[in-house]
Amino acid sequence: MSDSANNALVIALSKGRIFKETLPLLAHAGIEPVDDPESSRKLILDTNRDDVKLLILRATDVPTFVQYGAADLGVAGKDVLMEHGGEGLYEPVDLNIARCRLMTAGRVGDSGTDGRRLRVATKFVNCTRRFYAERGEQVEIIKLYGSMELAPLVALADRIVDVVDTGNTLRANGLEPLEHIADISSRLIVNKAAMKMKHARVKAVIDDITEAVVQGGR
Ligand code: AMP
Repeated sequence: MSDSANNALVIALSKGRIFKETLPLLAHAGIEPVDDPESSRKLILDTNRDDVKLLILRATDVPTFVQYGAADLGVAGKDVLMEHGGEGLYEPVDLNIARCRLMTAGRVGDSGTDGRRLRVATKFVNCTRRFYAERGEQVEIIKLYGSMELAPLVALADRIVDVVDTGNTLRANGLEPLEHIADISSRLIVNKAAMKMKHARVKAVIDDITEAVVQGGR
């Protein structure tokens, strides 16, 4: 039986920035991992609480594990959630961490496509389709898995859609941000069934994390 079905409370996180910035919020809820995911190869981490486990996943997989109840709670970027669609999930808390913007970008001074259909390279295929559809623009979308900034430089695409923080990565590659699609930050997400079946424990984690976010923002 999985830990989640087994009545442990399972929380899905991704390594790196989200993990580091979520740790103090979890600590406020009395949850501290026993292993460090940066040095351990374990994918299921024990915590100081016997009834709480952490799953270490790829960021884009966090909503899927929570949607299907393999994890009860998770932390995921709004970019990842918009791309996933949010089915089967509640999104009760904006954690205000890992803030950035989802933007279109192109080569500095690029003057357009002379009527040819715009080619847009991105890993955010659904967000990109929605953004251009809402503007009534027909575009060709090219799915990439990384290094989107390269696409306009080698004439694979006219535009990219990517998350931008300082803009340094775009500038270093002769690109500039163009249109703002959405403000991004990480969110606490909850499996809808777990919210009912494990209500007291899930609600306690949501309340403690909300309190930590409010205190951190003061
Ligand atoms: P920048 O500070 O704009 O040069 O950001 C560098 C790269 O880091 C971007 O291209 C993104 O791939 C990544 N990045 C920046 N902020 C975030 C974030 N909050 N979440 C995920 N990726 C990010």
